[in-house]
Amino acid sequence: MYFPDLTRRDEVDYHNNREVFYADYKKNHKKVAEDCKHRCVYCDITSEEYGGDDMQLDHFRPQEHFDNLKAHPHNLYLSCPKCNVLKTSDWPCQKNKDDAPSFVGGIGYLDRFERKAKEFLEVDVNGNIIHRAGPVNYMIKKMLLNRPSRVNVRRKRAIEDKKTKIIKGIARLADKLTQDEEQGKITREQRLERMKVIRRLSHMVKSV
Ligand SMILES: [Zn+2]
Repeated sequence: MYFPDLTRRDEVDYHNNREVFYADYKKNHKKVAEDCKHRCVYCDITSEEYGGDDMQLDHFRPQEHFDNLKAHPHNLYLSCPKCNVLKTSDWPCQKNKDDAPSFVGGIGYLDRFERKAKEFLEVDVNGNIIHRAGPVNYMIKKMLLNRPSRVNVRRKRAIEDKKTKIIKGIARLADKLTQDEEQGKITREQRLERMKVIRRLSHMVKSV
């Protein structure tokens, strides 16, 4: 439900018809968005939850410190505008060395294509990101990842997930009643009576 594992497509899939990368990095938007599963790699809000197509491309290793990665699509990560602004061109680790670690100790940034987020963080029942390891605390502080708007989005997602599970459970219960009637375990009247309760419950859940 949160921070899924990400895999990057091959470099050649980002080539233009002259078989090189686009000089204008913004032309990679659609493919980068797909690679990032249409979520901000930092706060996890989805394009849909954000309410439009305004998600941006962040240079994970900032252009200011990694001149040669400006146009490289593997350095582009989908980000909501707010996370992009808060990250700025901050890069507390070694600069101008492409393969240097993106965090050292607890300082730096988690590369979602290199490491699985689940090993470094979890999301609690209230929607807060909880640090488990690595640079998560640094990122929470620098990028305000637990700002109220994002906590609410994550909590709402958890509620919707629970609602879906409850509705599916109710549907199974209704099927069971039908079966019970067919097998003569209950009468038609008993099934109809119980279905009234089930429908009320279902309506209540959907209206939450
Ligand atoms: Zn974000």
